[in-house]
Amino acid sequence: MKMPDPTAALKEVMREMAGKGTRKPGKPGKPRARAARAEPQKCGCGCGKMTKGGKFLPGHDSKLHSRLLKAAKEGDNAAKAELRKHGW
Ligand SMILES: [Zn+2]
Repeated sequence: MKMPDPTAALKEVMREMAGKGTRKPGKPGKPRARAARAEPQKCGCGCGKMTKGGKFLPGHDSKLHSRLLKAAKEGDNAAKAELRKHGW
């Protein structure tokens, strides 16, 4: 003999409530996780301006490069180290 479960309807409602809407407050979502790599930073050439996520503002890397090359030719060891640091 089969009796209908009196709590079945209640369970159904609770399942529905759990599925819809109410989220657990302990878990903050990370909506911008993918944008983490593109964080603005100070331009590597030393101009003090902020980039949009790269190491340099457009064109500033070559400006710094030629400046360092010139300084390195004149015997500037700091410039030589800087060139090595950037892999130039
Ligand atoms: Zn710059």
